[in-house]
Amino acid sequence: MRINDNFEKLPESYLFSTVARKLREYKEKNPDVEVIRMDIGDVTLPLPAACVAAMHRAVDDMGAGSTFHGYGPEQGYAFLREAIAANDYEGLPVGADEIFVSDGAKSDLGNLGDIYSRDSIVAVTDPGYPVYVDSNVIDGRGGELVDGKWSRFVYLDCTPANGFKPTPPVAHADVIFLCSPANPTGAAFTRGELKAWVDYARDNKALIVFDSAYCAYVTDKDTARSIYEIEGAREVAIEVRSFSKTAGFTGLRCGYTVVPDTLVGYDAEQREVPLRKLWLRRQTTKFNGASYVIQRGAEATYSPEGKEQVKENVGYYLNNAAIIRDTLRKAGFEVYGGVDSPYVWVKYPGAADSWELFDMLLEKAHISCTPGVGFGSLGQGYIRFTGFNTLEKTREAMRRLEDVISK
Ligand SMILES: *Cc1c(COP(=O)(O)O)cnc(C)c1O
Repeated sequence: MRINDNFEKLPESYLFSTVARKLREYKEKNPDVEVIRMDIGDVTLPLPAACVAAMHRAVDDMGAGSTFHGYGPEQGYAFLREAIAANDYEGLPVGADEIFVSDGAKSDLGNLGDIYSRDSIVAVTDPGYPVYVDSNVIDGRGGELVDGKWSRFVYLDCTPANGFKPTPPVAHADVIFLCSPANPTGAAFTRGELKAWVDYARDNKALIVFDSAYCAYVTDKDTARSIYEIEGAREVAIEVRSFSKTAGFTGLRCGYTVVPDTLVGYDAEQREVPLRKLWLRRQTTKFNGASYVIQRGAEATYSPEGKEQVKENVGYYLNNAAIIRDTLRKAGFEVYGGVDSPYVWVKYPGAADSWELFDMLLEKAHISCTPGVGFGSLGQGYIRFTGFNTLEKTREAMRRLEDVISK
């Protein structure tokens, strides 16, 4: 059996393993020091009570003959798809039939490659969420890795000059991955900025894959939560969302993808083919649906109590992010993000290397962060802090940082 050679092209991902190794080594040398993890991309608050109660009821359903559920619909139960359409897309042109429930956004983002051609030119942001790059490389769309960049990708540079929000390139791309509010930079597109992307996609007959895993964190009134707020987006965009960062479902696994009826791709003869049909076929072939219990839990995020509890959790993390922003700014860091996002993206003037900054903060303040270079070459020199730790630990971490800087 010949393997998929693309796996050998893919470099090892050193980011999280190196962070873990450095923390382990530090702990061995300094057993009495408690390091505060400001690098985690996972939530810390427990599930909203409304979700827990709904899942308890769902487990009871599974234990009784009259309410037992076997295989569910591959696309997700109607009760959840209807709740998503009525709540997350209230006032927007998205129907329950266009929503596909899954076991999380990461799976969908990686699996979407099944419906577009191996030859597609893929555009990705630098820095960005690594799944977009790696999954397309595995599918054979990367070309060769030269100086840290894949030869067949179009890179969308995210820098302070553009507020980490790239404008459409001159070059042609077939599939564009956009994340807003973005991981890792926290940058979020306004409606006006997204309109330029929708226009580009129409002109290029391209597909936008819009990752709005952090849409619940949007506070600014000009920031788009959904790409379907933009006129014409139903003809060019797929939107991917998750219950992970909003309702703490990182360990439960539930997300969804919207594929509008009006979205088409093109076959070899340039005939239009509805993408919804392809995605439905892909999901019914390779996926048997998210679990009934988890979907009942996700449904409960739309109950009156559930909504209130989710809002509270998101507010808690945003408050942490605000504390991080303020402290780092006062300490002389260049600070970005953390307003419509749990992530704060920072640079320290004079420090040019992400790992150097990481080591310095670990040694001197006993806090860990995520080196920005792990998200792409333009992340070099930056580090990412998260608002996902507890309020107490966030405060303590910031106190330590202030102490170090004032010395
Ligand atoms: C966390 C995250 C996801 C993954 O969400 P899951 O539903 O847990 O798979 C997707 N996109 C971005 C940008 C993320 O940060």
